[in-house]
Amino acid sequence: MLPFKLIWSDLYDLNLGDHVFPSSKYRLIREKLLATQLASAVDFLEPQPAEDTDVLLVHTADWVRKLKNGTLAPREIARMEVPYSPELVRAVWLATGGSILAGRRALADGVAVNLGGGFHHAFPGHGEGFCAIHDVAIAIRKLQAEDAIARAMTVDLDVHHGNGTAWIFARDSSVFTFSMHQEHNYPFEKHPSDLDVNLPDGCEDEPYVRLLRENLRHALSTFRPDLIYYLAGADPYREDQLGGLALTLEGLRERDRIVFATARDHNVPVAVALAGGYARRLDDTIAVHAGTVQAALQTVVEPG
Ligand SMILES: [Zn+2]
Repeated sequence: MLPFKLIWSDLYDLNLGDHVFPSSKYRLIREKLLATQLASAVDFLEPQPAEDTDVLLVHTADWVRKLKNGTLAPREIARMEVPYSPELVRAVWLATGGSILAGRRALADGVAVNLGGGFHHAFPGHGEGFCAIHDVAIAIRKLQAEDAIARAMTVDLDVHHGNGTAWIFARDSSVFTFSMHQEHNYPFEKHPSDLDVNLPDGCEDEPYVRLLRENLRHALSTFRPDLIYYLAGADPYREDQLGGLALTLEGLRERDRIVFATARDHNVPVAVALAGGYARRLDDTIAVHAGTVQAALQTVVEPG
């Protein structure tokens, strides 16, 4: 039995059909964790969908209504770059409930992993880049509203800049936004995070992990959050179809270990959300995400 919880629902699938976003990944990650005996059935918690009142802590009433009623304009669907369906809406409300639950469980256990979510390109009044609502921002606002936390940090290591996160928390001094991403990639307008590390095309393991270690240590010793949300995108991988960095599978595992170990050294719990991952071989994306769970376990059981 794991010393922390994995949060997952079989309704996380975004119902995208033949799309570069492999929305079957959520189910496949769970199957891999079970098949490799890294986790067992008792380690998984099923989330409830977020309440609409929670979603409204971040999003406009107009956007929430359009998503729920299926009344988005064609240009709004085009901007999301995913087909609209009631299943998509159900999935992102559930994934948001999952990120809220991951935050609560991380506060109790030190770590929790939502095997979904990380929709960091969603803005209050529109969606883009495969993201309809911003689960992590909603979770932070929800945990703040119920006084579970005062200050939070987002550590966004998806290959793409966390533009929605940066925009939502731009004038909120209680949330520190840290994004490390490929500079010359989507989104081309990057609203400034509190800390942005812009990486050159083709960045490899060694400079990546060095920059991560230095910047995360510095951010954590100056800001001191009550909780980190770690967006563990699998797309900095060298074989990613939508990414232009050159991390290896081992480099990505080291990235995860650095996040969990640095947070532990500063006594800050970590809630994980998955974010992107578009490797040419779907098995590699699954391996990167499963590796994040493994790295969390290693950091918990091998302190120091
Ligand atoms: Zn991404």
